[in-house]
Amino acid sequence: MTKYSCVNCNKTYVIQVTRWKCDCGGLLNLLPSQSKQENDRWTSDRSIWRYVSSMVGRENLKGWQSITLGEGQTPLLKLDEAEPNTFVKVDFMMPTLSFKDRGAVVLVALAKQLGVKKMIADSSGNAGTALAAYSARAGIDCDVYVSADTSPGKMAQIEAHGANIKAIKGTREEVAAAAQLAVAEEQVFYASHVYNPYFFEGTKTYAFEVYEQLGKAPDAVLIPVGNGTLLLGAYYGFKALLEAKLINHMPKIIAIQAEKCAPLAKAFEKQELIAKSVVNEGTFAEGIAIAAPARSKQILEAVRDTKGTFITIAEDEILVARKMLAAKGFYVEITSAINYAGYIKYATTKDEVIVIPLCGAGIKSPT
Ligand SMILES: *Cc1c(COP(=O)(O)O)cnc(C)c1O
Ligand SMILES: [Zn+2]
Repeated sequence: MTKYSCVNCNKTYVIQVTRWKCDCGGLLNLLPSQSKQENDRWTSDRSIWRYVSSMVGRENLKGWQSITLGEGQTPLLKLDEAEPNTFVKVDFMMPTLSFKDRGAVVLVALAKQLGVKKMIADSSGNAGTALAAYSARAGIDCDVYVSADTSPGKMAQIEAHGANIKAIKGTREEVAAAAQLAVAEEQVFYASHVYNPYFFEGTKTYAFEVYEQLGKAPDAVLIPVGNGTLLLGAYYGFKALLEAKLINHMPKIIAIQAEKCAPLAKAFEKQELIAKSVVNEGTFAEGIAIAAPARSKQILEAVRDTKGTFITIAEDEILVARKMLAAKGFYVEITSAINYAGYIKYATTKDEVIVIPLCGAGIKSPT
């Protein structure tokens, strides 16, 4: 059976409802046993579940058919006729309108198989809306801890699915701490997109789809980063493709942060192994405003391993980028405009093939 294993001390744990970190405080990854990734056994399913044979620990995801909402297989489109090598991956065309569905459906499939009755999550918004939808479908009660000033659109979405909103006045870190306290008190499943490694088995499918749609690996993937759930998922996915010899190089990961909250970009610049927490000075990019990312070491390693880099974006650049994208037909939430702002700043050669994700729909944060 697949186990959890600690990234610090390598201690292993049976996968069960209340386990979400090591006794030493370390983060858990998945330690595969028999169920190796089989990248040649993809199915004809028209969702992320086409790639279930590539998911580590898939023996714990057997009930996915009853909770899937058809997530994944989102369009990959040319940004513009004038820039034929630049593609956008339209991940806002997901059941709950953000890429978080890729990971959330996997996490809820795991919870269902473990017999979970209630789960607790914390989120800057989109992970919460995704988990609210899938937990409703799975018949699992769900409390979502969010900051009191999360976009009203995201709050409405969470409530519509019948999840309980716990609005906390405080930083993103205080919201997470409140959720973790409740998890300990109630002894329930912590549906954390940051701590639970199953989430990354879902976000890995981003890479598989890009590979299949392009027919090769791009030269660079631009990825916004807060906690790194898309970044690490994409990295693990492309790594799996490389190991299976389906691609012949890793795309560079160009990670994007908001200048006002950029702990990872700062650590990268100073060549530090772990990001020191910063003070979030306030940014429009609420979805990536993470001052103390728990998986900073893994994120920095991933970007370095691909010979990628970090780009930081100022507030006015985010707003301009949002208008420019809408003028091309793509209406994204404000956080997602930073991805395009990053592209404008990224010094590219004309023939580099680049993929930019459009992570969240515009209607989530209209103003
Ligand atoms: C979650 C999210 C991100 C960033 O994801 P992280 O896992 O925090 O790195 C980017 N954009 C949108 C719209 C998101 O919802
Ligand atoms: Zn440990």
